[in-house]
Amino acid sequence: MYRSHTCGSLRIEDKGKHVTLAGWVQRTRKMGGMTFVDLRDRYGITQLVFDEQKSGELFEQANKTGREYVIQVEGLVEERYSKNPNMPTGDIEIIVDKYNLLNPSLTPPFTIEENTDGGDDLRMKYRYLDIRRENVRKNLELRHKFCIAVRNFLDSKGFLEIETPILIGSTPEGARDFIVPSRMNPGQFYALPQSPQTLKQLLMVAGIDRYFQIAKCFRDEDLRADRQPEFTQIDCEMSFVTQEDILQIFEEMTKYLFKEVRGVDLGEAPFPRMPWQEAMEKYGSDKPDTRFGMEFKELTTLLKGTGNFSIFDDAAYIGGIVAPGCAGYSRKQLDELTNFVKMPQIGAKGLVWVKVADDGSIKSSVDKYYTPEQIHQVCETAGAANGDLILILCGPDAMRCRKQLCELRLEMGNRLGLRDKNKFSLLWVVDFPMFEWSDEEGRLMAMHHPFTSPRPQDIPLLATQPEKVLADAYDMVCNGIEVGGGSIRIHDAELQAQIFKVLGFTPEKAQAQFGFLMNAFKYGAPPHGGLAYGLDRWVSIFAGLDSIRDCIAFPKNNSGRDVMLDAPSEVAEAQLEELKIALVKDAE
Ligand code: ASP
Repeated sequence: MYRSHTCGSLRIEDKGKHVTLAGWVQRTRKMGGMTFVDLRDRYGITQLVFDEQKSGELFEQANKTGREYVIQVEGLVEERYSKNPNMPTGDIEIIVDKYNLLNPSLTPPFTIEENTDGGDDLRMKYRYLDIRRENVRKNLELRHKFCIAVRNFLDSKGFLEIETPILIGSTPEGARDFIVPSRMNPGQFYALPQSPQTLKQLLMVAGIDRYFQIAKCFRDEDLRADRQPEFTQIDCEMSFVTQEDILQIFEEMTKYLFKEVRGVDLGEAPFPRMPWQEAMEKYGSDKPDTRFGMEFKELTTLLKGTGNFSIFDDAAYIGGIVAPGCAGYSRKQLDELTNFVKMPQIGAKGLVWVKVADDGSIKSSVDKYYTPEQIHQVCETAGAANGDLILILCGPDAMRCRKQLCELRLEMGNRLGLRDKNKFSLLWVVDFPMFEWSDEEGRLMAMHHPFTSPRPQDIPLLATQPEKVLADAYDMVCNGIEVGGGSIRIHDAELQAQIFKVLGFTPEKAQAQFGFLMNAFKYGAPPHGGLAYGLDRWVSIFAGLDSIRDCIAFPKNNSGRDVMLDAPSEVAEAQLEELKIALVKDAE
């Protein structure tokens, strides 16, 4: 028997017991004739005492024990002389009478404690040591609890957990596929699923009725901050449902998860539902952070066309936000904000401000172009009170300008401390456009994915004004993060063919790529719909993390590399030959 107890389990009630513990040496302290060792495992830390008076030999061994050595000890549980109220085991210690070195350790490259001295790269390279740290391990424990709660909830609602394959054909979701060569079919490739989308729809055709899976998804995208090439979804699909049914059940699941896993009661009230158009107009984003207000106020008609200020006269959109209580912002603070919106990743040309002082007097950066009445009107339209600051952006492209204003709003939210990690604001964004134009592709693309159904009332517009068609699609948003999204699907082969046509597929190409789905729809496909939650995102919100990486056991870095395994890597010539693959040397 390696251990009778874990390093987190002994309490004062255990005083007098003779126990066996095993674990890692967190640290050793020699104080005169006594050596204290903190022994750690997943469950906690227990203090061991080696007393020179009792056994010189044991004392010697303890003093030779380095950090992260794996040891086993036997000893008597004693009440501590100086107790540590910050540790669950802080009332006791073990007076060791037997010591067994199970495995020595090299000196770890960083300290295994909450505030480690290890930088990001080093921690990732030695992730197995990083996970020994309590804060990282806690995130994995939370993730586990989250998954168990998801399974319990969905099981109670009759969902079946079904695995779908990882080696499949292409499943377009708007990203690039990762592909895998097939040795047995030279020249042919599998694709890794971007999501199990088409497979879960086939399970509905198969009569499964309610499906879920905690599914690995793979997307070969250029890595933006906080994206992983492989990530995990809680993927769900249901038959004979409307959008309303889906929103209700997943709202119930979300409330359940908050309560079970995070101990937060979201209350009885349903989540607000916001049409996509409204989200874009009020927040410049399809995933608005509604923990705080500061909604956009459109000022285009008020400020454009006076002939005095060409920057506004040339704009397609002028919009502002009111930062409460910020009229006292200094020149320096305003310059900082101007520099913020001018950063290349935001790309605004400049920032206009209007200050309404505490006494009601108004001052702005465009005073020389507008009459006091006009500026007064701006304050009124924006709803600014005494003490407030109005920040205004403009641009030739309304959508782009709204996105810039969205960044500014979030920045102000940060500065004003309005984005509290312990506050949760959830909503559904609904009525997304079906299609969006892609300059890159020179065609309309599905905004969600090509299997999403248009709203029934919009189907007639498909042939004439596809850009006006709204989708029967929905996203769940929490604190400005899209935590889930889905849609009612097309279950009619004809309608699916029509959508492929709008997306620029010839019937032959549609058949070649999606024939398996369209043909299945000819065998009695039930009406169906579903959604997928981003597991990594949920867990990082619950854990209050800044990055999803911290809740993934072995994440990739920003260049998509696993630095611990040193992957991706080259493969042996023989492997390539077997696959009939020849590498093209770069032209340079
Ligand atoms: N497969 C979709 C996605 O990955 C989710 C869904 O529509 O159920 O975004």
